[in-house]
Amino acid sequence: MNTGKTKNLGVMGWPIAHSLSPAMQQAAIEKAGIDYSYIALPVEPQALPQAVAGLKALNFRGWNVTIPHKTAIMPLLDEIDEDAAVIGAVNTVLNEDGRLKGYNTDILGFLRPLQEQGVALEGAKVLILGAGGAARAVLWGMLRNKVASVVLAVRTLEKGEALAQEFRQRTQVEINVCAFGSEVFCQAQAQADLLVNTTPLGMTPKVDAAPPVNWELVKPTAFVYDIIYTPAETRFLREAREHGCPTQNGEHMLAGQGAAALALWTGIEPDADCMCMALRQELEKKEQ
Ligand code: NAP
Repeated sequence: MNTGKTKNLGVMGWPIAHSLSPAMQQAAIEKAGIDYSYIALPVEPQALPQAVAGLKALNFRGWNVTIPHKTAIMPLLDEIDEDAAVIGAVNTVLNEDGRLKGYNTDILGFLRPLQEQGVALEGAKVLILGAGGAARAVLWGMLRNKVASVVLAVRTLEKGEALAQEFRQRTQVEINVCAFGSEVFCQAQAQADLLVNTTPLGMTPKVDAAPPVNWELVKPTAFVYDIIYTPAETRFLREAREHGCPTQNGEHMLAGQGAAALALWTGIEPDADCMCMALRQELEKKEQ
């Protein structure tokens, strides 16, 4: 029961009814036996400043932030963590006695499965497919872990080049950009130790789509990561698995970003497996 002592948490977005976070966070809160409550917070874009002031007035301990507020919320906060500033988006707010600090836990969520599976990032050659919002966190995660080089493969060269140019200022790591189907793309596929799909190609309902990877070029030892989480195995991951590559889908990234947020708010280390299970159950309900 939510009592006057319960610490309140939530997720703000618009629309928000589809969010998997309440089920996932509530499962971890119950497992940990802590007096917190996590709810969905529908916040229309024009109501964002009032909503932030309202949650602060209501003494919420913190909240997650999702589309369309991840960037718009930044000037409304007192402080922005370095990762969130570099990525240019906040997905978690922590309220410390009325002082609001914005974080981006996508990067921790993305890196966690790689660490758990012992994938060596230092010195690795990385091929990232796509250069949108999620690619920013993936790219920063790679650069922070001292990879040898990154190639961004895209359909719109200007967008890829703009992202690369922005991040080149922060790193010594070589970042190249190429178009799908180009010669450089072929070379990057052959050299990659880690391939990450950050495009929505293959996501439900368009499950027959896939990024244009030629598996004959890819090393069977390359680790293949698709950050999509519906379906659990995209065509891209299925073809990678059939080629012999170790694979990872986006479920653990989603659960991991949630676990990192809950750790910030509560100081406990949440049960990430329990969060992942709650997430899968919700996804299966939606698939029915
Ligand atoms: P986004 O900002 O719209 O970026 C999408 C990227 O994919 C852009 O580079 C876009 O290229 C490219 N793209 C889109 N359609 C394409 C196509 N048909 N062919 C080639 N390239 C295409 O989206 P996002 O927020 O980064 O999200 C991307 C995916 O990541 C979604 O499936 C999302 O569900 C998933 N995601 C997962 C997690 C997680 O926790 N697991 C977190 C965030 C996102 P253009 O610039 O040319 O349009």
